[in-house]
Amino acid sequence: MSELNTLTLAQARDALRKGETTSVALTEACLAAIEGAGALNAFVHKTPEIALERARAADARLQSGDAPKMCGLPIGIKDLFCTRGVPSQAASRILEGFKPEYESTVSQQLADAGAVMLGKLNMDEFAMGSSNETSCYGNAVNPWRRGNEDTPLTPGGSSGGSAAAVAADLCLAATGTDTGGSIRQPAAFTGITGIKPTYGRCSRWGIVAFASSLDQAGPMTKDVRDAAIMLEAMCGHDPKDSTSADLAVPDFEAMLTGDIRGKKIGIPREYRMDGMPAEIEKLWTDGAAMLKEAGAQIVDISLPHTKYALPTYYVIAPAEASSNLARYDGVRYGHRAKLAKGDGITEMYEKTRAEGFGHEVQRRVMVGTYVLSAGFYDAYYNRARKVRTLIKKDFEDVFAAGIDAILTPATPSAAFGLGEMTDADPVQMYLNDVFTVTVNLAGLPGVAVPAGLDQQGLPLGLQLIGRPWEEGDLLNTAYALEQAAGFLAKPGKWW
Ligand code: GLN
Repeated sequence: MSELNTLTLAQARDALRKGETTSVALTEACLAAIEGAGALNAFVHKTPEIALERARAADARLQSGDAPKMCGLPIGIKDLFCTRGVPSQAASRILEGFKPEYESTVSQQLADAGAVMLGKLNMDEFAMGSSNETSCYGNAVNPWRRGNEDTPLTPGGSSGGSAAAVAADLCLAATGTDTGGSIRQPAAFTGITGIKPTYGRCSRWGIVAFASSLDQAGPMTKDVRDAAIMLEAMCGHDPKDSTSADLAVPDFEAMLTGDIRGKKIGIPREYRMDGMPAEIEKLWTDGAAMLKEAGAQIVDISLPHTKYALPTYYVIAPAEASSNLARYDGVRYGHRAKLAKGDGITEMYEKTRAEGFGHEVQRRVMVGTYVLSAGFYDAYYNRARKVRTLIKKDFEDVFAAGIDAILTPATPSAAFGLGEMTDADPVQMYLNDVFTVTVNLAGLPGVAVPAGLDQQGLPLGLQLIGRPWEEGDLLNTAYALEQAAGFLAKPGKWW
């Protein structure tokens, strides 16, 4: 058997059930890989004791023949998920020292399914960013490099630690969250698979809120089968989240037949952006050809409001963030600034928030407060809400016309260098989300699948967007694409 930490969830599961390995052995292999990968800065809190304890319990269950679906499989958890007794900081200074007394529903469900938590993963502060550079822990690093260069590259963001850890085989899979692309963009930058399910599929309870009408959790995995396995464990109805859908969760893995004959795949003309790199254009065309070869019908479609998606997102997301982040005031959680003599409660709030929040978070709070303020509410926030409805309607129209899934690039480029995009021009960073934010605004499921390498040897991903609640069907189309693309490349180990 290959090194245990390099296995997929499905391979490890099958090996465990055949008695070829143990959860303790798998967990120890991952813990050793994590120890050797400090240079990637992917894990920000390690929990080896918890991991080994859960692994031993999993082995006992496997022995007794009463093993749930993910029994014994070691995974990483994004720092945005509250985990009982374990630091959960959303990569922010303001949550320094915060150890929740409760467990997020999603991480609890994964534990109930038998998964073993190895630790918490790096991310952009409060999930705001596309490069993992806004983290209070410093950036995670992409295990991939351009050709023979040693320029450190971003693993993407905000789930950059999750992406780096899965791509570098530090864990078998990881959780991510996606508000505007934070699962799909880092998955594409690191050659792994990531799915954001339909809004409402996974409970948001116990996940630190960024923009509540857009946030969704999802799996980041080595392949599509693993995404199906892990998504099933993560989703389901939760009475503690009023936006969680009361729908049955199908066996997603059983839906992976690879048969997509007769499916209609839409190619949206508005996603053909000016200045799109030729390599991305080619990847997209090749992807469509592969789906056609597999028996799907390729149809040109129009999503006319696409060009308004980014500005709409960058009004709605900061508006919701400014409201959600009002609770970090130095009173109830984490960091509180040292006060000078004579300082009152206002100074305490101001100093705590100025010290505790990084630049990007402060920018979002200010933008959000502005677009919600009395004089500008209608011009910005209300208008953005209306445009959001139109964007959603664009998708409803094409699905009503019989389209089963939509194929687009996942990102407008391959992974870029750390420090290449500056704080002085945040819009440049925001442009990373151009293909992904529409999906969050419309509440739809979207999956990123690695589909090729660019000329410098970096992975590129394609995105498939599906009908609401039809993640199983979407994953099956992704599975067909994965098989046709045959992406098996791995980053060369330098860390
Ligand atoms: N990059 C986007 C942002 O900064 C998306 C982040 C996310 O999906 N959490 O808002």
